[in-house]
Amino acid sequence: MILDCAVIGGGPAGLTAGLYTTRGGLENVVMFEKGMPGGQIMNSSEIENYPGVTGEITGMDLMTPWPEQCQKFGLIHEMIEVTRVSKNDAGNFTIYKGDGTSVEAHSVIVGTGSTPRRVGFKGENELFGKGVSTCATCDGFFYKGKEVAVIGGGDTALEEALYLAKICAKVYLVHRRDEFRSAPNTIERIKKTENIELVLNASPEEVYGDAMGVTGLRVVFKDGTSRDIEVPGVFTFVGNDVNNEVLKQEDGSFICDMNEHGEVLVDISMRTSTSGLFAVGDMRVDAPKQVVSAAGDGAVAALQAIAYVDEKVSE
Ligand code: FAD
Ligand code: NAP
Repeated sequence: MILDCAVIGGGPAGLTAGLYTTRGGLENVVMFEKGMPGGQIMNSSEIENYPGVTGEITGMDLMTPWPEQCQKFGLIHEMIEVTRVSKNDAGNFTIYKGDGTSVEAHSVIVGTGSTPRRVGFKGENELFGKGVSTCATCDGFFYKGKEVAVIGGGDTALEEALYLAKICAKVYLVHRRDEFRSAPNTIERIKKTENIELVLNASPEEVYGDAMGVTGLRVVFKDGTSRDIEVPGVFTFVGNDVNNEVLKQEDGSFICDMNEHGEVLVDISMRTSTSGLFAVGDMRVDAPKQVVSAAGDGAVAALQAIAYVDEKVSE
């Protein structure tokens, strides 16, 4: 049997793709998710920017009903890791699974997400979600009127520092060198922003806190001196790893066009350069890395996949 659609990844993007493909009439749609469905937002202790959410709910509260809703329309969930997606000469996709088996599909929607890199300082993992964050859009509001530290010297760190400076009383921008690798106009805007203090030639050594969460960050300067910055929030932006392994072929090339950061190039319909293959959510180029946009991508791709499969099977 050939699946109408294989959905890879069961985060907000994959689950929404599963909902729209099955409800839109595709049959034999399987969502391959290596763990519990829900995606990385399941780790969030609070989400308040998903439309319609007015109370205090966790990421798990938000995501728990999604798989059940999908199953109602016929989405099959297979809990397994996908190792590779390839396209064969007949124009079908082969989904290789972690247990050594494989299955064929007419179309594939891949939404395996991305993983923000950790910096590696003491306390980072222990206090992650309790003051240490990798998402200003998600968590910045919790520090309204308070002081925060931002770590990193690339475009993301500088843009997020500007975003946080609008919400927070003060932003300490901590960078390990005295030059940024960001766009010149962004650097200018940083320098002109009064409530951003540059803490340069400084590497984070330790974040510490109490039962309530983070209380401060210790940085060490290149000359060996150190400084304690007393803040309840530490935002780290030191790059992202895109979870694109499933798109890698045996010869090391990718099945579709990618950019230099390993993000999948898509058009506004989430189509990749390989027909019948769609990429959604955090792994695609220019992703806003939000639940609402990941879900939107899933819906867009599903509608395209339905049209693609209809045309393919009627040929
Ligand atoms: P993901 O959620 O990353 O889901 C990808 C899924 O694919 C995962 O379940 C993974 O297990 C699975 N997978 C990966 N590889 C494979 C494979 N090879 N085989 C099978 N399965 C695989 N966004 C907001 O809008 N608001 C917030 O308040 C917010 N807070 C956040 C707080 C935290 C702590 C974090 C980490 C993120 C937060 N985000 C928030 C961002 C949001 O979680 C992501 O933008 C969103 O989850 C992206 O959805 P996705 O479906 O693209 O990917
Ligand atoms: P990035 O460009 O790789 O920058 C990562 C930053 O983190 C660097 O400044 C790096 O320092 C620092 N860093 C890395 N590891 C560290 C560690 N262990 N300790 C302390 N600092 C550490 O990542 P990014 O900012 O996420 O950007 C990724 C790509 O997306 C870039 O090409 C960027 O231009 C692009 N982007 C573009 C836009 C835009 O065009 N508007 C917006 C966002 C991102 P060093 O500088 O010393 O290496």
